[in-house]
Amino acid sequence: MITTIGLEIHVQLATRSKMFCGCSTAFGDEPNTHICPVCLGLPGALPVLNATAVQLAIGIAMALGCQLHEVSEFSRKNYFYPDLPKSYQITQYDRPIATGGSLPIATAGGTRAIRLTRAHIEEDAGKSMHAADITLGGETLVDFNRCGVPLIEIVTEPDMQSGDEAYEFLRSLRRLVRWLGVSSGDMEKGAMRCDVNVSVSPDPSRHGTKVEIKNLNSFRSVKRAIDYEEQRQAQCLADGTPIPMETRHFDEALGTTAPMRSKEASNDYRYFPEPDLPLLMLGAAELASVREHLPELPWEMQARFESEFGLTPYDAALLTEERSTAEFFQRTVVISNNPRKIATYMETEVAKLLNERGKTLSETMLTPEALAGLLTMVESGIISNTASKDVLPLLVDTGVTPDEAVRKLGLEQVSDTSAIEELARQVIIENAAQAEQFRSGKEAVLGFLVGQLMKKSKGKANPKLAGELLRKLLG
Ligand SMILES: [Zn+2]
Repeated sequence: MITTIGLEIHVQLATRSKMFCGCSTAFGDEPNTHICPVCLGLPGALPVLNATAVQLAIGIAMALGCQLHEVSEFSRKNYFYPDLPKSYQITQYDRPIATGGSLPIATAGGTRAIRLTRAHIEEDAGKSMHAADITLGGETLVDFNRCGVPLIEIVTEPDMQSGDEAYEFLRSLRRLVRWLGVSSGDMEKGAMRCDVNVSVSPDPSRHGTKVEIKNLNSFRSVKRAIDYEEQRQAQCLADGTPIPMETRHFDEALGTTAPMRSKEASNDYRYFPEPDLPLLMLGAAELASVREHLPELPWEMQARFESEFGLTPYDAALLTEERSTAEFFQRTVVISNNPRKIATYMETEVAKLLNERGKTLSETMLTPEALAGLLTMVESGIISNTASKDVLPLLVDTGVTPDEAVRKLGLEQVSDTSAIEELARQVIIENAAQAEQFRSGKEAVLGFLVGQLMKKSKGKANPKLAGELLRKLLG
């Protein structure tokens, strides 16, 4: 049995206003407060294309290595639906803005490029709220705030073979759109939605019947829906039950899929060119300007962190999950050239603190200069690694320099030989029995004596020096 999976992902473009009118795209406001004659499709209202939405679409298509087309066209996709007041959606059909391209994903067998078919720009529909959603007294209400919100739809080739791979694809795409700042990628707020095509075939040389699962709104649901559908289709094939080409709905509670409708063919929509919008022409200057502002891409940075800094694939992936983190790491390495130590400290102590604060790195006062300074102090023995954990919160919360923080907390490590020697003498007198044990050859007791000395110095003595001096005095 071979499973073949293709995805169609709708990504909301992060504009302040809608695709063809000036209404706000703000999420979660009172229903029907961001509407106008254009997005309601009232007679005589004319759409005007949002230039920012086009720029964001170009950016994402470029990052995905798509071929951008100099000329593309908007069409009307005609269908009736309660949350679609115009009874058509403006979308790109046979002349999309971009075709081809690929996105690398991590699989069990290493990194693999998933090929893309196309990317096109379109507007979103509204939202129906059924009695099951909220207490509406059995009615269905419609919120048109989403009508006309700009989307880019990315369609993949059937290049994935499992729910895990589809999950990875979505993760990788979300990382990219956030990295570029073209979308929040927030599935809970509908900023990223996914339709899945799954087919199971006993013959690896040809695809089985394509079944579509619509409107999955979490990564986990995508994986669960695919896992279920894989089993269901395999069972149908084993039983000799025909698998119709259809659109199915995923039931979150049951973890199963059920038929929704038979699959429409594209000619059911009676597409025709949108008469109210001109052809979309991309100029060389516009493309060059977007290309110039395209940052180093997450997978490029990830590979470079491995080759240039010797990070493990795990560390490199973790540090490039978000662009702000990756750039923070990079800047810290430039200041204090110790990439592996910085990586470990960021993934453990810094990550732990951010988790406690419920903040992202960029929401804190921590700077690359401060982190680099802190780690240098540990390395040069000015403070102990343990003491650095007391300093870090001050850097994160108040933005003071490591020097100021260490002084404020009185944490400078004492490396003054005479001061430590005095403490060592006291420890030997107060722990005469243990000192005798050490003298008669019990090496392990030294650890205990160093511990006593550290306690006396309130943790400030340089432990290495303390050990050496105790040994000298006892010898
Ligand atoms: Zn509007």
